[in-house]
Amino acid sequence: MSNSVNSKGESLEHGRSIVFRNGIVVTMDNLHRVLKNADVLIVDGVIKEIGTKIAAPDDALTIDATGGIIMPGMIDTHRHMWQTAMRGYGADWSLAQYYVWYYLQHGKNFRPEDIYAGNLLSAIEAIDAGVTTSVDWSHGLQTTQHADAAVDALEAVPGRFILAYGNIQAAPWEWSVDPAFKEFYKRRFDGKGDMLGFSLAFDVLGDAAFLEKAAFDVAKDLGVPVTTHAGVFGITGDESIRLMHENGCMNEHTVFVHSSTLSEDSYHRIAASGGSASVSTESEQSAGQGYPSSWRLRQFDIPISLSHDTTVWWSADLFTAMRTTVGSDRSRQHMEAHARGEQVVNLDLRCEEAVHWATRGGAKAIGLEDKVGSIEVGKRADVVLIKNDDSPVMFPIISPYGHIVMQAQRGDVDTVVIDGNILKNERKLVGIDLAAARNLTEKTVSYLADSVGEAAWVEGQNPELSAHVIAENPYKYVK
Ligand SMILES: [Zn+2]
Repeated sequence: MSNSVNSKGESLEHGRSIVFRNGIVVTMDNLHRVLKNADVLIVDGVIKEIGTKIAAPDDALTIDATGGIIMPGMIDTHRHMWQTAMRGYGADWSLAQYYVWYYLQHGKNFRPEDIYAGNLLSAIEAIDAGVTTSVDWSHGLQTTQHADAAVDALEAVPGRFILAYGNIQAAPWEWSVDPAFKEFYKRRFDGKGDMLGFSLAFDVLGDAAFLEKAAFDVAKDLGVPVTTHAGVFGITGDESIRLMHENGCMNEHTVFVHSSTLSEDSYHRIAASGGSASVSTESEQSAGQGYPSSWRLRQFDIPISLSHDTTVWWSADLFTAMRTTVGSDRSRQHMEAHARGEQVVNLDLRCEEAVHWATRGGAKAIGLEDKVGSIEVGKRADVVLIKNDDSPVMFPIISPYGHIVMQAQRGDVDTVVIDGNILKNERKLVGIDLAAARNLTEKTVSYLADSVGEAAWVEGQNPELSAHVIAENPYKYVK
């Protein structure tokens, strides 16, 4: 294990009281209060006090937040953590190429240890970026041994996680009723606290027989939520939403990932159910589920959270998710206005809203809004300090929300506290064995490359491009 003291020789042991001093506190409370030169005291894993020059226990670790922003830990509501060992492999993929590789060809090659390696690396990566809660949209669980490996990895890293159990190698109405699945749930989840939650993860393809109903019934039986990829062009559309809605399979805990290509009727149904949408803008922009949906969801007042989807293509930090989402939302507003021959004068979306989606929005989506998602007295202490005295980008901080969304990046995350424990300080991970994660990842990569075969491994990451035609340019210079 790595450092348990920081550069000043201060102990970073878990359970120690912590006081952040003199920072800009972006509380994300109901009033969205932003406090200047403020302190935050954490005792016994709980936010105990927020204010100016507050008293702290003698043994509390003091973290100087001068020049920094203290914000709630970010919450990612949809990440396929098991795929992280293949970071960047599909950077040039379309969604069709992803399906072929994982669903049809090679996803079944993953062994439990490969799920472990991906989950471990993803869990560490999340914490490093200030993502204190991640929903592990774990659809590579071919057996409960795979599922055990996924949970082992999530338990090896002291972050907050939700295992969203899925299996792309079998139909949801098959794996969810398998006694082994129920045994796994009882053994590893029943009665667990809020550091490790559970939900079911599967897609509804829109077939009139609606066989997925069986999996919804299992979720209802266990009293756990469902998360589903919805509004994915050509895959899950309005029929899927209608079937779920008319069969009583939607509620306020249902998370609809993407929700891009849907009709007004479907958005109304989602809104009426009280469910929320998880927007993965980087994903929607390049994979092709549909235009990133935040601009549309806002029109129907559907609650929004953010997610990154998978590192097979994209980045895994919510700074990028916030920035791309604000960009795509505004881009759409301009496009729509230009189509009417109008110019946008006032934007619809503020950076403040994007920070809300990355924090409170996520907490609401996963049913933990009373515990995390804001910096308020009594809440669990999932707190992030963005501060980087070596960076020319960290001053001046004039607009804290604008700074978080448009200026800061994961390298500026100085300190991460989860449930009161320090997991990153002075921009270095604390008590996390990165070397072990690297070692396991390398093993998985070489195993996968071997099992796929060298030619197919190289070909898989270099998909064919579509043919494009350069238009004849009438202004070409001719001598
Ligand atoms: Zn996904």
